[in-house]
Amino acid sequence: MRCPFCAHEDSQVKDSRPTEDGATIRRRRQCEGCGARFTTFERIQLREITVVKSEDRKEPFDRSKIDLSVSLACRKRGIAQEQMDQLVSGIQRQLETSGETEIPSKRVGEMVMDGLKALDSVAYIRFASVYKDFTEAKDFEAFAGSVSDIVAKDTDKA
Ligand SMILES: [Zn+2]
Repeated sequence: MRCPFCAHEDSQVKDSRPTEDGATIRRRRQCEGCGARFTTFERIQLREITVVKSEDRKEPFDRSKIDLSVSLACRKRGIAQEQMDQLVSGIQRQLETSGETEIPSKRVGEMVMDGLKALDSVAYIRFASVYKDFTEAKDFEAFAGSVSDIVAKDTDKA
């Protein structure tokens, strides 16, 4: 594994252990060049998925991108890393078992939104406000409607 700091080609595995849900192996590595430590994750991938952004823009499914947007959306919400991992693993599994090899990015975004909606309303609104494209007034109305439902629900709880 190439070192992210100095680009040295070799690193040594210092520690290797499965995460709590057993779906991932986490490895602590140390660069043989500069000595920097970093972590890699090994996950099961059932099949190759291509995410279609538009007619001429396709890219391989990259779980780390979803991990990043989920963790940004959940920032300071007191949500356990494991819950976020499970959410993303669930989405990945759904995509891999859908029988399709090309999936529109819009659908991936919607799956993340659905997952966050069930997890935390603030995280959901954060993600949705970044993700949603409000070019159509109709979309915005539908979204604003679902947000006010959530806010109302939260107020009920308090
Ligand atoms: Zn290095």
